[in-house]
Amino acid sequence: RIEISNLSKSYGIFKALNDVSLTIEPGTVTVILGPSGSGKSTLLRTINHLERVDEGFIQIDGEYVGYRRKGHKLYELKEKAILKQRINCGYVFQNFNLFPHMTVLDNIIEAPIVHGLLNRKQAIERAYELLDTVGLREKANAWPRHLSGGQQQRIAIARALALNPKVMLFDEPTSALDPELVGEVLDVIKKLAESGVTLVVVTHEIGFARQVADRVVFMVEGAIVETGSAAQVLDNPRHHRTRRFLEKVL
Ligand code: ATP
Ligand code: MG
Repeated sequence: RIEISNLSKSYGIFKALNDVSLTIEPGTVTVILGPSGSGKSTLLRTINHLERVDEGFIQIDGEYVGYRRKGHKLYELKEKAILKQRINCGYVFQNFNLFPHMTVLDNIIEAPIVHGLLNRKQAIERAYELLDTVGLREKANAWPRHLSGGQQQRIAIARALALNPKVMLFDEPTSALDPELVGEVLDVIKKLAESGVTLVVVTHEIGFARQVADRVVFMVEGAIVETGSAAQVLDNPRHHRTRRFLEKVL
């Protein structure tokens, strides 16, 4: 379970996160919605300690993210310990970010080998399982540049899963894709949702949210203004900003 407690984060005088608290139960799908600049990416990045917070903290299964506690104080972990912690979180970006000089298979086996989680043979076996999950076994030896955007994103998801993360974080995974490729990526994410991985997804795909979200979180200006089931937030929004946002995207 992810416990986000009273997070605040400023860039200079600009407050990107303003006292954000949220608990995410294991095996659930949380969809984060909100206008541009509302702090969605910043929040995701703090869950992985890619972003340092000014106040508050995050715990995953009781362990502080990026910090250790001593008495009443939190001390930031060393780089190596932070990298080790990040294994808990798979991260999928808008722009796929596959290693361009590596084949699909090498992209997927790299991290588990480097982190010493699997030997090469095990990593390859696992990679083929994951390629089956995303429906791209036949692309194992292809180069990323020879794949469509949707295929690249499905490989990026397989790569993130190779570390067996407790949590998968998706930051607008389909917003860089041509419309006809969005569905195949969302289908893979839906499949993950059914498999019981904990998912946190920033997306503007309202239909997807309606189908798979256990919880929808709506952010405005660095704060959570509304949260509830998809039916509550999407069909019966209470906050005027949520209503305005939904009128625009639907
Ligand atoms: P979008 O929907 O456009 O992706 P978002 O909700 O993900 O928006 P964030 O990227 O979290 O928003 O940004 C929140 C605010 O913080 C924005 O106003 C942004 O300009 C600002 N911000 C983000 N990163 C930085 C940074 N490294 N330095 C300064 N300001 C930043
Ligand atoms: Mg963003």
